[in-house]
Amino acid sequence: MSSPRVDVDGVSVSPDHYINGERIASSRTFEDRSPLDWTWKLANVARASSVEADLAVTAAESAFPAWAELSLEERGSYLDRLADLIDRDVEDIAHVECLDMAMLEESLRQRVIGRGARNFRAYAELARNYEPRRWSSNGTENTVLRMPAGPTVVITPWNAPFMLSTWKCAPALAAGNTVILKPAEWSPLSCSMLMDLVEEAEFPPGVFNVVQGFGAEVGAALVSDPRVRRISFTGSPETGRLIGEAAAKNLVPFTAELGGKGPFVVFADADLDSAAEKAAVMYDDGGQVCLAGTRLLVEASVRDAFVERFEVATKRHVLGDSRDIATTISPLIHPDHLARVEGFVKRAKVNGDTVVFGGVTLTKDGLWYEPTLIEPSSNDSEIVQHEVFGPVLTLQSFTDEAEAVKLANSTPYGLSAIVYTSSEERAERVGSRLRAGTIWVNCFLVRDLTAPFGGAGISGIGREGGDYALDFYSDLKTLQIKEGTTRG
Ligand code: NAD
Repeated sequence: MSSPRVDVDGVSVSPDHYINGERIASSRTFEDRSPLDWTWKLANVARASSVEADLAVTAAESAFPAWAELSLEERGSYLDRLADLIDRDVEDIAHVECLDMAMLEESLRQRVIGRGARNFRAYAELARNYEPRRWSSNGTENTVLRMPAGPTVVITPWNAPFMLSTWKCAPALAAGNTVILKPAEWSPLSCSMLMDLVEEAEFPPGVFNVVQGFGAEVGAALVSDPRVRRISFTGSPETGRLIGEAAAKNLVPFTAELGGKGPFVVFADADLDSAAEKAAVMYDDGGQVCLAGTRLLVEASVRDAFVERFEVATKRHVLGDSRDIATTISPLIHPDHLARVEGFVKRAKVNGDTVVFGGVTLTKDGLWYEPTLIEPSSNDSEIVQHEVFGPVLTLQSFTDEAEAVKLANSTPYGLSAIVYTSSEERAERVGSRLRAGTIWVNCFLVRDLTAPFGGAGISGIGREGGDYALDFYSDLKTLQIKEGTTRG
């Protein structure tokens, strides 16, 4: 049984799950509201329990053998078709995702949703071009082959849900696995739209499924199912630990891309104008970006010069409706998340940290929080050591390179780091010492899909991206043939 489709500001969206090629409703639903206007209910979305989790894993398990048997060429053609359909529907997907999670519509349209299409195309191509490692040893010819692993659960967070989900589902499908995707309950709609395109691309039923609902209910049921052979998760370290425990019980490999508290290191030899402009970008999307460099570490000799420029750049930000092209800072996703961000700043004040600017909620208008800069009283302050996931940065200074590296590496996180310097030697030296999965020097968010991606410390386990992802979603095996074995 399916529910009627919902009109989301002119775009038709199904509020149901997509299991075994069919839309399926649940007896329970949850309300999905727009952060742009919290009184605006976008949809009542199906709320799965362990029953729907079981249905989805059963569908993925039944579809797996035939999907795994397809040639790389055949599987790739499904992924390419899906990519073309995403490109066709970018405007609608961007609009709905903007309403659902308040990311800036222009960047969704220009950049983020299109990345979803590129994910499917790139992984189809990479899988097709796989060149197995071959070598001779001990009188045998060795070849490393990839075997599809089996049903795969993908669990994603509420920020950039379409792009982050496709980033994981694309390599899983290309590798020959079937997929059950559970998007976050705060922004479920764009992944439902993806399923319309999966149907239109005529994927075999059960190959790519979506279940909607809460993490503690359907999420926990999915990751505990022993038929699942891979789990890929993006979200908070707290949930990552729970998923890791479930994966360990069933001895299932899992990857976790978790939170960040990246350093933004500015050396005295840097182009301070560019560094300050880029530092102000950390407030974009309400600071709800895991890769952001939220700890500004500035060489003491240029601290004042940098802060002056940074304040000017920050003042140019426009808080507003994410549909408006002039807006640069969107509201936060949910009242609970706003309360979390407020809590961090309140506790910082009690702790003796100094609010340089910001620290204000624009409650009369909704869920906006002003760009905020805090000078901590100590490097141990909570505001330095914990991810806020909002428009709140900290400012600290250092006197030499060794202290910069020490401060940069001084939290339990290790997702990303940003460094501004004009010296390539320093870039390489510091880059090699920073503990982070991705380090950007004089740039930010430049990504190559073939590069490994993930976090050190509590920012993650495992690496995805390019062949790293295809290896993760496969069981690798070594074929050894005794030399001299005749052909034919
Ligand atoms: P979250 O951990 O609360 O939820 C993420 C997903 O896990 C949701 O779909 C949720 O329903 C599900 N979930 C919750 N409990 C579960 C359980 N017990 N079993 C199974 N699934 C469960 O994270 P969030 O608040 O949605 O997202 C914000 C976090 O994600 C931040 O920490 C952010 O840094 C991180 N993030 C990391 C990356 C990255 O690439 N490293 C990217 C985006 C976001």
